[in-house]
Order: sequence, then C-alpha cells, then structure tokens
Amino acid sequence: MKLLYKSTRGNEEVGSSQAIINGLATDGGLYIPKFFPKIDLAFDELIEYDYKQLAVYVLKKYLTDFTEEEILYCVNNAYDNKFESREISPLVKKGDEYYLELYHGPTLAFKDMALSILPYLMRIACNKVGIKEEIVILTATSGDTGKAALEGFGGVDGIKIIVFYPENGVSPIQKFQMITQKEENTLVVGIDGNFDDAQNGVKEIFEDRKLNKELKDNGYILSSANSINIGRLLPQIVYYIYSYTSMLKKGYIALGESINISVPTGNFGNILAAYYAKQMGLPINKLICASNENNVLWEFFNKGNYNRNREFKITSSPSMDILISSNLERLLYHISDDVKVEKMMINLKEKGEYSLSEEMLSRLNEFYSSFATDEETYEIIKKIYESQSYLIDTHTAVGYKAYRDYKEGTKDNTKTVLVSTASPFKFTKDICIALGIDENLEAFKLGDKLSSYTGIQVPSSLKKLEKNNIIHKTKCKKKEMKKVIKNYLKV
Ligand SMILES: *Cc1c(COP(=O)(O)O)cnc(C)c1O
Repeated sequence: MKLLYKSTRGNEEVGSSQAIINGLATDGGLYIPKFFPKIDLAFDELIEYDYKQLAVYVLKKYLTDFTEEEILYCVNNAYDNKFESREISPLVKKGDEYYLELYHGPTLAFKDMALSILPYLMRIACNKVGIKEEIVILTATSGDTGKAALEGFGGVDGIKIIVFYPENGVSPIQKFQMITQKEENTLVVGIDGNFDDAQNGVKEIFEDRKLNKELKDNGYILSSANSINIGRLLPQIVYYIYSYTSMLKKGYIALGESINISVPTGNFGNILAAYYAKQMGLPINKLICASNENNVLWEFFNKGNYNRNREFKITSSPSMDILISSNLERLLYHISDDVKVEKMMINLKEKGEYSLSEEMLSRLNEFYSSFATDEETYEIIKKIYESQSYLIDTHTAVGYKAYRDYKEGTKDNTKTVLVSTASPFKFTKDICIALGIDENLEAFKLGDKLSSYTGIQVPSSLKKLEKNNIIHKTKCKKKEMKKVIKNYLKV
C-alpha cells in the first residue's frame, strides 16, 4: 500500500521521495506519515534479523515509492564498516541497566544512525522525482548533526552541504570535527548565536519564497539534514525495534514483555522515532523524555504549557541546549483530532508559548519527563563509572537521571532501555570534571588522559581527527546567513 506524507499545517500531501527532497513542507509544516505501518512479523522471527535486515524490513514499509533493491542498496552502503561495532547499535547490560549504544558510527554520536543513510536515500529520491538542480543541504546543528551530515554528504555528487553551528555552543571536539571537513562541496559556518538562532535562521530561509526562486533560477534547490526531514526520522525507528529484539535474544525479557525507553532529548527527533516504533506495535510502556536545565519539555509534559521565554543555558550536554524543539510539532499533530497545530506554532513564534487542552494533555500519558542539572549529570557519570567501570557521556547521564526519577517516583519495574547517544570521548572536559580528573588540558590530550585513567580506548576516528587541518573559518551574524549562502553559491 502506498504511504503518503502530509504536512502538519495543511493539506499538502507528497510521496516519500518528495518528502525527503523537500525536507520542510512548502507550508512550513513537517511531513508525517498518513498512517503507521504495523510490525507484521512475530518477534521470535524478528530476533533472527541483523541490523541491516531489520532496517530493510522497516524502511520498506515507509518508503513505498522505493524498490526493495534500492532500499537494500542504501542500507548496505550506510551500515558498513564505518561503524566500529559490527552490531551497529549494541545493547549492553551494566548492573541492572540496559544501554543501547548508538555512538559507534564515524562521528561518535547517534546522528550517524540516520545521517549515514540519508545521502543515499536522497540521491535515489532525486532520480525518481527527476530533479535537475543541484541539492543544497542546509543544516543547523547543536554539535552532532553537523559533523554527521558533513560525513554523510561530503563528496556526494550533485549535492552541496552548508552547516551553521553556534560558535560558542559546542564542545571543542565537536567544533574541530566540523571545521576540518575537507570535501569541496562542504561549508561550515560559526554563527554568533545559539542553536535556536541557527535553526530559526535555516527555517526562515526555507520559507523565503523569493530566495528559493532565485536559487532555483541558478540551478539549486534547498533541502534539510535536520530531524525536521522525515528521512532522518524513519531510519531511527529501526534501532528501537533492534533494542527490543536484542533484549529478547539475550534473554533479558520474555516474549510479549514491555520495555520502557529513556531518551536524552533536545529537538525531540530521537524520542519521536521511539513513539513511531510504539505506534507500529513495539511493546513500549513508557517513553521517558529527559531534559537538561533547558527544561521546556519537562514543563510541557508536566504542565501542558510550552514556554520558551526563558534564559538559554549552556550546559554540559550541549547537543540538548535547545528551547524550540521542532519535532514536538509532529507529536502535537498525532495527538490532536482537529488541526490546531498551525495555531500553536503561530503562538510559539509570536508569543513564545502555547498551551494544550486538558484533552490533549491526557493523551500524553505514555510519556514521562524529568530533567537533570549539570551537578546531577556529573554525579551519575561518576557513580556509574565507579560501580560498573562503565563510562557514559553527559547526554546519556541526563537520560539516566530521568529514568532514576521515574523509577523512584512510580516504583515501576519494567525493564528500561537507556539510549546512549554519544561517546564520552566527545565531551572529555565534562567527563574529567565528573570523575575528578584535572581537566585543564587541550581536548585531545584530555582524551588520552581519560583513556589511560579508565583503560577505555580512544575511538579510532578521534585519533585520526587530531592531525587534520582547519579548513573552515567563516563566521557570521544571525542576520547574515542568507548572504553567506548566496556568496558560497555565487548567486
Ligand atoms: C542530538 C542529540 C541529542 C538530542 O536528540 P534529539 O533528537 O534532538 O532530541 C541527544 N544527545 C546527543 C549526543 C545528541 O547529539
């Protein structure tokens, strides 16, 4: 059955290829699938599937204008030996906890899970739709998406990629990963602002008809590698199903048993993929949404009010330093009967806030939310390292804190998968602070120090990175993003 994608803000409907190419719907909304395909194989059959087979199984259901061969081609090229773990997303048990490690890809964060396949999907989508123009991927990053997108799209024929990152809002390793990207078709720009500024700037550019026309006349069309692109979200469903089949296969749960999932959350993309997996029939009990001190989402789930009028905080989990969580728009659409979403988004833009009706709030029962301060984050990293000799990064620690609050508050003993979103070696300074190691060293040296202290190897992609030269030195103000793009494309 053909699956179409519709906009959260209007009646626009497109096929999967067009949705991936457009990124954002032309009315400013986000594309959502018109229905959720169901998991139609028994889990005792699915446990035999490896990651790639599962990816083909899931993506085939969503990308109905792709052939199975095309999907297979994308999957085989994405999940190959650029992942340091053959399992791609290993599930590990430490003490009584289960961690889904999503950081064994080339850029050491979970963004690789989708961004290693998106360029292949996009190329095939362009051929199908008959796009003649060159695609320009515009990306706003809080640190991890940028590098993963550069890694995926760097050197791809017929595509250029431009990344905007907050000049002072990413870790030194994250920054170095991006500004040393070599390929000709890449541009990396530091902006004088935070992630929300970068993301708003990019969204405005997508909605600027005049600019888009001008670009088109010059042979370019814009697309997105952010999780507003449905092509980012769909591949993320796969690892949630994989986490469940891994739990089964390892004997941690019995057939039919439910699990909880705890996700450190920023733009709400990763946890939304878990929600989609649940809609497909994956036995998930609670979705635990973890925030850092930028805790808009915690307030949203607990009070039904979204309010971004507050101080933007720079925390030890920078990839979650976000006040405007884009993908929440998709969830709002799924839980509302009539279409109020557009109005809420207008309120958000104009007043910085919106509220849910009692009824909508009651539909959020399957979510639980809590948050962590930096101090709590450090305390958890230290505690887990000391008790399990297991090192987690700052984001994962935030997820752990919300899980602990949930467990203490509800006494629910459902087994919980903690989504581990980044390698601790991306955030060496904060990990050293947490463990009480002197952190006053340059970031790469700190990695070596951390490695000798813990006996855990520095990931090989990081070792190679250190020798690279800085290539991208462009900086700009928020208002200058359009100008930078036009300069680069010589329009
Ligand atoms: C992007 C990111 C997050 C937040 O994920 P969302 O999909 O934006 O909610 C959490 N942790 C890390 C390490 C990330 O890179």
